[in-house]
Amino acid sequence: MALMITDECINCDVCEPECPNEAIYLGPQIYEIDPARCTECVGHHEQPQCVQLCPVACIPVNPQHVESRETLMQKYLRLQAEKPASAA
Ligand code: SF4
Ligand code: SF4
Repeated sequence: MALMITDECINCDVCEPECPNEAIYLGPQIYEIDPARCTECVGHHEQPQCVQLCPVACIPVNPQHVESRETLMQKYLRLQAEKPASAA
């Protein structure tokens, strides 16, 4: 499942640099998560890094993007394949 950031976000900037998929970005008002890039950290970490770090616990599962672990792994592999060779 991709995760999402709710409007309880306090824009603390902690999560964005820790996302291994560069899925988190600053939106018009608060940080947002690109569901096409969030693998719930599958492929990188045992636990979602953003959820572990968020001080206000405002990162639930995105109900619009419920995905199995296998689907998340496929997304991880696609994102890895898209990376430039120099950054792999
Ligand atoms: S769960 Fe992982 S991949 Fe998804 S937004 Fe959070 S840090 Fe990024
Ligand atoms: S860690 Fe939580 S509060 Fe901080 S920017 Fe990310 S989502 Fe917002």
